[in-house]
Amino acid sequence: MGRAKFDLRNILTEATQTSKALTHNFVTVPRKSPNGPTNLVGLTRVDLREVLIENGTPEKQANMRVSQIWQWIYEKGVRDFDQMTNLAKPYRENLKKSFQISVPEIITKNVSEDGTRKYLMRINGGHEIETVYIPEENRGTLCISSQVGCTLTCSFCHTGTQRLVRNLSTSEIVGQILVARDDLGEWPIQGLPKNETRLLSNVVLMGMGEPLYNFENVRDAMKITMDPEGISLSRRRITLSTSGVVPEISKTAEEIGCQLAISFHATTDEIRNKLVPINKKWNIAQLLETLKSYPKVSNSERITFEYVMLKGVNDSDDDARRLVQLIKGIPAKINLIPFNEWPGSPFERSDWKQIKSFADIIYKAGYASPIRTPRGEDIMAACGQLKSASEKKRKSKKDAVPYT
Ligand code: SAH
Ligand code: SF4
Repeated sequence: MGRAKFDLRNILTEATQTSKALTHNFVTVPRKSPNGPTNLVGLTRVDLREVLIENGTPEKQANMRVSQIWQWIYEKGVRDFDQMTNLAKPYRENLKKSFQISVPEIITKNVSEDGTRKYLMRINGGHEIETVYIPEENRGTLCISSQVGCTLTCSFCHTGTQRLVRNLSTSEIVGQILVARDDLGEWPIQGLPKNETRLLSNVVLMGMGEPLYNFENVRDAMKITMDPEGISLSRRRITLSTSGVVPEISKTAEEIGCQLAISFHATTDEIRNKLVPINKKWNIAQLLETLKSYPKVSNSERITFEYVMLKGVNDSDDDARRLVQLIKGIPAKINLIPFNEWPGSPFERSDWKQIKSFADIIYKAGYASPIRTPRGEDIMAACGQLKSASEKKRKSKKDAVPYT
């Protein structure tokens, strides 16, 4: 064990030394392409109202038109102005001239043996993102991306090895949900009763990217997702995961109000600096201080602490005991994530026995400590395995089912 640990530390040091700067990289994506029509997907209600008025909708009618168009797009999944039958034909023709309803395009879809679906989607500029749908017994969770790649360089994460290309726009974030609903065939059929059991019932911002480095677009996309006249997911069914961008955490509570998950992963600054390098900017003490006030502001029940189990690195019984001490006073649950390997990854998954022992110590201290079952591993869809296809060596063609 001593030797194995020594080797791993070396790897950790190297990973940190080669890591990129911790600064983030805001890239503004224009809502209107220079020559193309404005995309209505992803506009807030206020912005939608504004563009409709600019396009000739009388102010008196604008709120009603916003509601109608909003429902067509987000409640009924319509992409064609001609199908918006409660709008007069000349009005629809006018909309067609200035606007579009555009969502990301699925390039490939892989389906795991366990039913998990991984979509590779193409977005504006030809960039690629991955989105994962995870069906469970009583719910279905969509894991969405917020950036192409990531500026942060957590040493155990595949996405972290991809240079950030850009932030996703609001339409590209919310568009992932619309596209998944298309693929699941979940839009209501006119005239038939609404199906109350939703295939896509939860959203987690745990795909590619650090959502709090794209705060405004993530916020607006989640507001659209929660809006009762559209996708209508309750804020309790949305979880945002962050590596610990401390100044944005209280804003998440105030401006989004969704559930929060923290990629914690270590119990000392020494190890966390190496695993989650953003810790050098905001350390464990600063992070915990901010978390103490989160549930009060957002009314969320508990904060999820995500903890990836890396053999011989962060998985000792002492780590478990330290973790319990650290989170004292924070309503929390600890989600243990067995490490998911990726090509060239410098870590090993902890032994099952050690994961159980770790979970047991936390559980006995009074915290829920579920061990996350890896999903979609056979199609590289599990946590931390996502990356744009053009950035990784393509897996054999037989794994990828062209989307039709
Ligand atoms: N950037 C955000 C959200 C995306 S990562 C964040 O870091 O929180 C979603 C979760 O998967 C995080 O907890 C992340 O630490 C974890 N993760 C990353 N790589 C992993 C891997 N190889 N195995 C298991 N979990 C991993
Ligand atoms: Fe980025 Fe999250 Fe991966 Fe860290 S774990 S590199 S923050 S996506």
